[in-house]
Amino acid sequence: MNNPHLCLMPSDFLYHLDINIPNLDDTTDIEDTYGEVKFVCVGGTKPRMCSLAKQLRCALKIDQHLPLVDISAAAHRYSMYKVGPVLCCSHGIGMPSCSVLLHELIKLVRYANCVDPIFLRLGTCGGLGVPPGSVVISKQVFDGYLRNEYEMPILGECVRRPANFNPIVFNELLKCKERDDRFGICLGNTMSTNCFYEGQARIDGAVCCYSLEQKMCFLNKIHCMGIKNIEMEALQMAAITYHCGIKAGAICVTLLNRLNGDQIDITKEQLDDFQQRPLTVAIRYIKRVLNISNCADE
Ligand code: URA
Repeated sequence: MNNPHLCLMPSDFLYHLDINIPNLDDTTDIEDTYGEVKFVCVGGTKPRMCSLAKQLRCALKIDQHLPLVDISAAAHRYSMYKVGPVLCCSHGIGMPSCSVLLHELIKLVRYANCVDPIFLRLGTCGGLGVPPGSVVISKQVFDGYLRNEYEMPILGECVRRPANFNPIVFNELLKCKERDDRFGICLGNTMSTNCFYEGQARIDGAVCCYSLEQKMCFLNKIHCMGIKNIEMEALQMAAITYHCGIKAGAICVTLLNRLNGDQIDITKEQLDDFQQRPLTVAIRYIKRVLNISNCADE
């Protein structure tokens, strides 16, 4: 653990997950339930993570006839499903929401003594210079000041932590491309922001204090830095997992090419198709790592 205080606590309640650990000296129950977890998949919405859980039950041939239970439903914040060695959890929008979830998930896998769990973010994003529907695997993550670190105030001081994903994970994720795929997969740097509109250089928010030329100049500049996508969570996830020595990666599908505009105006059918792509890549990756051969029902 990266927190020396935890071993002095008698118990811990993972409040937002609705998981109680009444005795930290004996975590046998939590180990029995979660000890086998090898992958922790997080993504924005509850339905997407429920869909991932259903697909994993099929792909991994696990518990297909049992009801799928949202473990964290009673806390009314996030959804969490367990499918054998995989946890599927929703994180909501943005780094503050993602941070709360990841603190509790990291404690959970530590209390459960999970061996080397891999964390994956599956999400949507704006692309830079890649066609809509492309899957971008994140390498380095930058903040809105274009710094490769996550900054937050702690005890009134500014604390910065490096925000890099694990090369073993991103290189393996890149290998999950298949010949018949109707989408490309590429490696790129990512910019994460706290604001979907001005923070991502959009001119279609309620407020905008720069010109179209200034916007394009910024987007072209970050594109030249190897930034291929913009989203709202990867920076915090890369930083906390790196800090805790946890292997992690991010797989995001681009909903539009930001060099061409700001509005997400794809059809509902296209959106469903695009949103499935990171899930497909994650399922392939999990099967590869678990050494499970392909089956038709994926
Ligand atoms: N998510 C984002 O954060 N930005 C986009 O442009 C699309 C999805």
